[in-house]
Amino acid sequence: MAQMAHFVNELCVMYAGRLVERGPVRAQFARPRHPYTRILIDALPSFQERARFRGIPGVAPSLLSHIPGCPFHPRCPMAEACCAEETPALRTFSVGGAGGIGAHVAACHRAEEMTP
Ligand code: SF4
Repeated sequence: MAQMAHFVNELCVMYAGRLVERGPVRAQFARPRHPYTRILIDALPSFQERARFRGIPGVAPSLLSHIPGCPFHPRCPMAEACCAEETPALRTFSVGGAGGIGAHVAACHRAEEMTP
């Protein structure tokens, strides 16, 4: 993810075969709107900190299984009751330019609560 960020303007983050967040690289790194994106960013190794590598708890789901609600809810540190029942829709957090280029969208019930 860190390597890609040097070569592209926008990133798409997918989980279990679904788009969960898309937007400008700077916006996503500054304020991700999906907990999975946040965890991916936090898992990036740092040569300065020499911190222990942080993985993601739990197991990636089979793409053949149907997970009700948000597909990330079994592993999400922010999951609440509705997450297991209602599939979050992609919502827009910044509009971007013509054709939606540069828009920041995410599919999370709690996207507004994501802090920078
Ligand atoms: S919808 Fe719920 S489970 Fe899914 S990423 Fe957001 S907080 Fe986590």
